[in-house]
Amino acid sequence: MNIVLLGAPGAGKGTQAEKIIETFDLAHVSTGDILRAAVKAGTPLGIEAKRYMDAGDLVPDAVVIGLVKDRIAQPDAEKGFILDGFPRTAGQALALDAALAEMGTSLDAVVNIDVDREVIVTRLTSRYTCRECGKIYNVLANPPATEGVCDACTGEIYQRDDDNETTVRARLETFDTSTAPLVDYYAAKGLLQTIDGDRPVDVVFADVRAVLEA
Ligand code: AMP
Repeated sequence: MNIVLLGAPGAGKGTQAEKIIETFDLAHVSTGDILRAAVKAGTPLGIEAKRYMDAGDLVPDAVVIGLVKDRIAQPDAEKGFILDGFPRTAGQALALDAALAEMGTSLDAVVNIDVDREVIVTRLTSRYTCRECGKIYNVLANPPATEGVCDACTGEIYQRDDDNETTVRARLETFDTSTAPLVDYYAAKGLLQTIDGDRPVDVVFADVRAVLEA
């Protein structure tokens, strides 16, 4: 099973992706996580990508498409994968279709997580992330048991550079312009399943699961 998780930044894609891979045996492909790892490692790609990420802009298609093609060609993605944060532009969606066709496979579902704008701004500006394993917390709604320490791996919990209000609003604008049109693209292909993401994590996941098991 190959799935795309679509939704604005802060809609809950990463959190739902974690739950999906716990339930279904799929590889988790998050372009944001791949890019953040490159930034952390200080690679040339990471240094270039950081400029775009800090401004709330998208990293150029050619770069991201190359990363995803490499990632889905890895052996662990053969069992199926979940794309979290990709595609984000029409160009990426077309490139994905072409790459999957070349590999003799295709998408099974596109899960679109829908959340109100102001809810997203509040969520993102109170979101903290584990520096080591990427686990996501919310200091208001879902804090770790010990402040600043990841429950899963004891790594340090920090606020992402792009989770400040100015960058969050820029990211939402980028989403409206570049990514929102993909909803129509996947609806026209009969793949789109829209889920109300403004509910508790487990309630949202129950719907995601039902859609994927259907
Ligand atoms: P995310 O963790 O998915 O919110 O991604 C964080 C940042 O990484 C985004 O704001 C973009 O700057 C960059 N990024 C992640 N995925 C993509 C993508 N598919 N295309 C372009 N830029 C991306």
